[in-house]
Amino acid sequence: MKFSTWKYTRPDYAEVRERINSCKERMGNAASYEMFREAWLDVKKAIEYADFQAEIIYIRHLCGIDYQYSLAEIEIQNREEPLLYALRDECNIMAAGSQYRNELEQEFGKQTFACMHYNPAKENPDSMRLQSEESALKLQYRKLMVQEKRDDEALFQVFRKLIETRRELAETLGYRNYIELGYHLRDRRDYGTNELTDFREQILKCVTPAISDIKARGIEWNRFPAVAANGRELFSAIVTMFKDLSEEAGSYIEEMAHKELYDLERRTNKRANLFSCCMLPYEKLPFIIGNYTGDGLETGYAVHEFGHGFAFYTAARKQLLYEFHRSSPSVNEIHSKTMEHFMYPYLQMFVGEYQKEYIRNHLLLQLENLTYRCAIDEFEHLMYDRNLSRVQLCELWANIAGRYMPWNRISAEEVQQGICWPRQTHLVESPFYYIEYNIAQASTYEFYLKMKRNYRRAWSDYLTLCGEGGSRSYLELLESAHLSNPFVGNTIEEICRPVIDELHSLL
Ligand SMILES: [Zn+2]
Repeated sequence: MKFSTWKYTRPDYAEVRERINSCKERMGNAASYEMFREAWLDVKKAIEYADFQAEIIYIRHLCGIDYQYSLAEIEIQNREEPLLYALRDECNIMAAGSQYRNELEQEFGKQTFACMHYNPAKENPDSMRLQSEESALKLQYRKLMVQEKRDDEALFQVFRKLIETRRELAETLGYRNYIELGYHLRDRRDYGTNELTDFREQILKCVTPAISDIKARGIEWNRFPAVAANGRELFSAIVTMFKDLSEEAGSYIEEMAHKELYDLERRTNKRANLFSCCMLPYEKLPFIIGNYTGDGLETGYAVHEFGHGFAFYTAARKQLLYEFHRSSPSVNEIHSKTMEHFMYPYLQMFVGEYQKEYIRNHLLLQLENLTYRCAIDEFEHLMYDRNLSRVQLCELWANIAGRYMPWNRISAEEVQQGICWPRQTHLVESPFYYIEYNIAQASTYEFYLKMKRNYRRAWSDYLTLCGEGGSRSYLELLESAHLSNPFVGNTIEEICRPVIDELHSLL
């Protein structure tokens, strides 16, 4: 059945809540592990079905189909879903504290309760108030950012209040600072601030001078056209690539084609520059969205999203728990970014005569992004540290950006005007998240180097990583795919050096 014919029915939220409550009761009365386990899994099924319906309408919204209608439905979801998730969390807390915890962990793995999100809101009324203040500030910032005429002072005031609110939240909950709480909320266990400081140091030592050198020669990245004239043609090239890659990739893409689980065409009301992968629980299928304009680099953005989709599809067929169908971004982005490199032997189909151009631009942009993301991460660690004025905030950013990206000079005038602190949405929306793209990039390069030596072995390790989803911790997942721990010794430099050399050979 094609996606366009899938029916959307708004979940009867009261009924779903009732169903979860009765599962909770069954968990409480369970006389055996089997009974407890079944009731616990039924909670998940109820949520997954509601999420599935919600995702259908969200996809239509992103694609600009039934725009007004879907907008109204999404507003209802935003109100109802937190109540469902709170109930689910209660059931998970109950399972974690029950006599069956060991058996559940034995059957589903040690990560079973690791992905149970720690919710500080439950701790005390103050933290509850601060969290809703944080949400309100985020919303305010979002609104200010889409205004046609940017109001820098208003933006700064919201940003400053957000920093203060988060600091206060950390204090209320007994953390040393917001960094500590932020890492906790990201469930970051396998590495900490020391590891990230070393990571950034290595990028600074190895990548920054290389890019500086290239920029000094006046070389910039540029745009070039793709072969496919529209979304349909682009998809057809992706189908050919995936069928040739492996049997698994082939059956995935056939199902995607058969059910038309993609929409790459341009349309009014569809967000510009959008490339994204939605995951549909229950059916265990992804949906890929792109707003393809015929640009050469965009073909890689689309393949990136089909890479996310492939990983989800693979894990969903191996892992019973929906929570394990994905991992943290440090791993999920390895799936998608590595697919961009598996694409290289097929570039003729995507960009024709511009193959060399594509690889040059792709590598240059990636390396440049490594330096930018490190700068953001360092800034993010320092901005919670002290009370900074608008000018001081800009001074801090200008200093950090100047070290990581000396080719991007911020003028003293911009600093004095207080307009140049970074507008990276992650700082507002998802604290300490941004650096994970870099961490994933390191493993991606490792895969890339491996595929040059032995393409088949790289593919087989890649397939293992996809299948494991989020069923293990970060470092265990790396190990399962024979990837190095990027936080040990000079790993980053060893991985980046050959890629930089390749880029040089393409200039
Ligand atoms: Zn991605």
